[in-house]
Amino acid sequence: MAVPKKRRSKSKKRMKKACWKIVLPNLRPCPSCRVLSAPHMVCYQCGHYKDRLLVKPKLKKPKQKET
Ligand SMILES: [Zn+2]
Repeated sequence: MAVPKKRRSKSKKRMKKACWKIVLPNLRPCPSCRVLSAPHMVCYQCGHYKDRLLVKPKLKKPKQKET
């Protein structure tokens, strides 16, 4: 296993971590349901891709209150 030869200084470590940033995922609205979803992926909400239904969406049943 590769082992670092010298310890990296606090300054060098912090300089490297200073340019880390949060990158937002690339999202676009679904053409059929307008929910934001990843491009080139089946919409998780309606199961459509290129205006075709590929995956049947799982519908959540509302919880019934016990009386
Ligand atoms: Zn959709």
